[in-house]
Amino acid sequence: MNLAGTPWYRRLHWQILAAMALGAATGAIWGEPAAERVGWLGTLFIRLLRMVVVPLVICSIVSGVASVGAGGGIGRLFGKTFGYYLLSSLCAVLVGLAVVNVIRPGVGADLGAAATKELPPDLRTATSVPDLLLDIVPQNVVDAAARADMLAVIFFTLLFGLAAGALPDEHRRPLVAFFEAAFQAMMKLTGWVIALAPIGVFGLMTRAVASFGLGAFQPMAWYMATILVALLVHFVVVLPLLLRFLGGIHPLIHLRNMSEALVLAFSTSSSAATLPVTLRAVEQRVGVSNRVTSFVLPMGATVNMDGTALYECAGVLFIAQALGIDLSLGQQAVVVLTAVLASIGAAAVPSAGLVIIFIVLEAVGLRGPQVEVIVGLMLAVDRPLDMLRTSVNVYSDSCGAAIIARSEGEVQVDAEFRK
Ligand code: ASP
Repeated sequence: MNLAGTPWYRRLHWQILAAMALGAATGAIWGEPAAERVGWLGTLFIRLLRMVVVPLVICSIVSGVASVGAGGGIGRLFGKTFGYYLLSSLCAVLVGLAVVNVIRPGVGADLGAAATKELPPDLRTATSVPDLLLDIVPQNVVDAAARADMLAVIFFTLLFGLAAGALPDEHRRPLVAFFEAAFQAMMKLTGWVIALAPIGVFGLMTRAVASFGLGAFQPMAWYMATILVALLVHFVVVLPLLLRFLGGIHPLIHLRNMSEALVLAFSTSSSAATLPVTLRAVEQRVGVSNRVTSFVLPMGATVNMDGTALYECAGVLFIAQALGIDLSLGQQAVVVLTAVLASIGAAAVPSAGLVIIFIVLEAVGLRGPQVEVIVGLMLAVDRPLDMLRTSVNVYSDSCGAAIIARSEGEVQVDAEFRK
């Protein structure tokens, strides 16, 4: 769409930013009552996004995979996709490790006064590699789709797409045509939902700001600043370097093309809820083909979480520092590895990253009441950090899609800023 003549205040990303500021001000000034009055607008918006996720992902994957055909480079795409996920998550964890070791926010932190016993919600996550693998294979596809169990849905859909692509022309063509048309319809529907983003974001921000646990902020200030710095380093330095050197892409162009999706990731704190917006932005603005996005993005939303991986590592080291425990190099290596694995297992919903921190803590033997008290404090201040790590999670997926598309010869990717 050419919006060259549109005044700035009618452009969606400005409207969303204005809604964020307005929501933050409303939440800060009116507090809880405002959260109750307008919070439902945010819930409504997230429900609309969730409504489109499953059908959008199914149509996108089947049309993408089946149109490539059985032998058409699927294995290569898989390899590149997982190679990128691993590389970017590992870089993120190492950034977290380095920043926490430099700032050392936990050393000497007096957390006793602010202690709460609040524990994170009980989100079910796989805790071992075999569990993770078993979770991916659905026993009942309809049930998996009904629970929006994305990895299971993706697994089946990929296989279905491959099977469809392997059929003789007479069967393959109508199937691909159907899913392609359904995919276009879902994209259109997603566009309609996105047009409501300013209203939804207003509700989400009002509620988020009104319910921040301000009491715990002060003793946790260093911890929060450390995570913020580490996430920023990954967002502003590492991912742009990957874009530049692996994809030959100008990072600022990619950033501008992804602005709407990033703002929505920030306000929803959920990569899964943002997925429809990410898919649309990467296809229509970054210019990546459905063949590549259908591989990299839906899976990336659950598997590739750079922000979460970084957070797991930094959070565990913070806890160890606060307890006065020096982790050996070997133990830090265990933290690095389990942080990557835990981020793969984390659900793409708010606070999931904090819940799975217990997996990493367990891996280095950190447990007990003191640990729980600190995790309770981390929970009290988690929302703003969750917003930031979700944006980093989504950004890493879009960078991956752009890099892989370029490597597949898609020269139009991020060639310009598209509105
Ligand atoms: N909220 C994050 C996401 O959806 C996961 C996390 O809590 O780290 O990407």
